[in-house]
Amino acid sequence: MIRFESVTKSYPDGTLAVDDLSFEVGEGELVTLVGPSGCGKTTTMMMVNRLIDPTSGRIFVDGEDVSGVDPVRLRRRIGYVIQQTGLFPHRTVLDNTATVPFLTGWKKAKARERAAELLELVGLDPGVHGSRYPDQLSGGQRQRVGVARALAADPPVLLMDEPFGAVDPVVRDRLQKEFLRLQGTMHKTVLLVTHDIEEAIRLGDRIAVYGAGRIEQFDTPARVLGAP
Ligand code: ADP
Ligand code: ADP
Repeated sequence: MIRFESVTKSYPDGTLAVDDLSFEVGEGELVTLVGPSGCGKTTTMMMVNRLIDPTSGRIFVDGEDVSGVDPVRLRRRIGYVIQQTGLFPHRTVLDNTATVPFLTGWKKAKARERAAELLELVGLDPGVHGSRYPDQLSGGQRQRVGVARALAADPPVLLMDEPFGAVDPVVRDRLQKEFLRLQGTMHKTVLLVTHDIEEAIRLGDRIAVYGAGRIEQFDTPARVLGAP
């Protein structure tokens, strides 16, 4: 579903962020990218939906070279969840979630119905939380809204950058469990960035272990943990 072929990214200031990266992620597979800060995980993800483009090499999504795809069209197929959820502060939670369906041509009432379903899916009560503004939610709840919004276009691919990073360990544990349950029914192709090896092991079907600009190991949790 996602394939990197000898992808290199140097930033204009000369920083070599990703160095000759090749890997494949299967349809419905959840791959966690783990490693210390600054080793190229976010750069890797941002190239998939063309927030940035590689310096060299090619990236395919569903067999299509993304360099030839209009970024806006590409991002309809690729949901993006980040730690700073990017919610619109002066729109309610329901409206934040309904934005994507509305923009893709749904009638407003339909888009809101869909938004309410999505909020329920991520464990929020549309009647209670839907009419609040983002700053009236806890951190964990905002992360859920971020996930609901990314799911709104029903994209086959999800990119998640430290989606559970901004909350305390107890909330994180709950969000991880719920996300695994959700993924058990959604079967999205997921790339999930984390600097937390425990999270990588817990969530990943496979784990890409990063060292500076490269993937040093790409394997199942059991093998990464050293099982024969
Ligand atoms: P990670 O997600 O693993 O923390 P990043 O992909 O964000 O790593 O960064 C990889 C490297 O690229 C780091 O050295 C970082 O400082 C550098 N980098 C990231 N974005 C830029 C940029 N816009 N300009 C220059 N260097 C950057
Ligand atoms: P979570 O465990 O999901 O992070 P919290 O324990 O932090 O939730 O919050 C508990 C309750 O307090 C939630 O119902 C949330 O809506 C409410 N809450 C948290 N922060 C705020 C706030 N700034 N304004 C209004 N309600 C808040």
